[in-house]
Amino acid sequence: MVTKECLAILDAISLPVLLMDGEGRVKVINAHARTLLKDETPDSVSAIIRTDVQSFLKTVRRNRHCAHLATRLVEPLADYYPASSRVRHGDEWQDCYLIELFPRDLAVGGMSRLSETRRREASLQRNYVRARESARAALTQANQDPLTGIANRRAFDQWLQQLCRDARHQAFPFSLLLIDLDFFKRINDSHGHDAGDQVLCAVASLLTASLVRKGDQVARIGGEEFAVLLPNTDRRGAEDVAWRLVMAMRNANKCDHRDHQAPPWIPVTLSIGAASWLPGEPLTTSLLMREADQALYLAKEQGRDQAVTMKTDS
Ligand code: GH3
Ligand code: MG
Ligand code: MG
Repeated sequence: MVTKECLAILDAISLPVLLMDGEGRVKVINAHARTLLKDETPDSVSAIIRTDVQSFLKTVRRNRHCAHLATRLVEPLADYYPASSRVRHGDEWQDCYLIELFPRDLAVGGMSRLSETRRREASLQRNYVRARESARAALTQANQDPLTGIANRRAFDQWLQQLCRDARHQAFPFSLLLIDLDFFKRINDSHGHDAGDQVLCAVASLLTASLVRKGDQVARIGGEEFAVLLPNTDRRGAEDVAWRLVMAMRNANKCDHRDHQAPPWIPVTLSIGAASWLPGEPLTTSLLMREADQALYLAKEQGRDQAVTMKTDS
């Protein structure tokens, strides 16, 4: 039952609106819709729907509120799309549906503007990710030793400076190991430069594999020289790690490498100089490097294949 009051309300709506039952029978259309349809009131919505009417009705009945963007209307309503709401009287849902016709460009234009914005955002995001990845790749290349694949001198210098800053700021000890291969020139002379390169790669792998603690860093800082940074490690800790590396190299030389596909193993030993910094002590990178270098010199002087730390904890 559509009262006069109800009709007045419908007429006041500035959109074309109609009321229908669940079968699509039109009960009333408002003034705006009448104007559009030139005062012709359709008996059924099938008269104004160009697409599948049954599926439209099914969707209307199934959903209490629904926008039917896929539903196309006939002229002169072609620029509109229907939205349906089931009418409720008191607590009871009625077999009555309010069909409001919204200008299509409002919704579809709005949606396509939204998806255009999303597309633009996605493309910006993609560009950002690409730029970040290429910057990271460039950084990796700039910081990587091309022969062994581990970090190079440049990366090491940056790490050392950062570690000095962090350790001073947060007051934690750290240690530096300088590693030099013993009599490496002889290896080159007797086996050739390529074999020497392979030894450098094998040593890099062994050092990397032997440093198990998170935060420990290894770099190739010169021809046959490597450096290791050990955060949160005092002198005794540094000595332990340094000797572990010397022993790992000795053990690798003892291993039977004949079964391996790799080129023949060329034995080599390590000399290691360790320097540590403890909170409260004076700290510069050059001071620490000099101290480790002096320890390395001692290791060479005392017969090589060993680790020397400059001072011991009292
Ligand atoms: P020591 O025990 O005193 O350190 O003797 P050593 O022969 O290792 O010392 P030295 O510094 O005289 O020799 C280092 C050699 O390392 C000389 C150089 O030809 C070689 N070398 C440096 N860089 C590379 C490289 O990238 N590949 C190869 N195969 N050899 C290199
Ligand atoms: Mg050297
Ligand atoms: Mg050497």
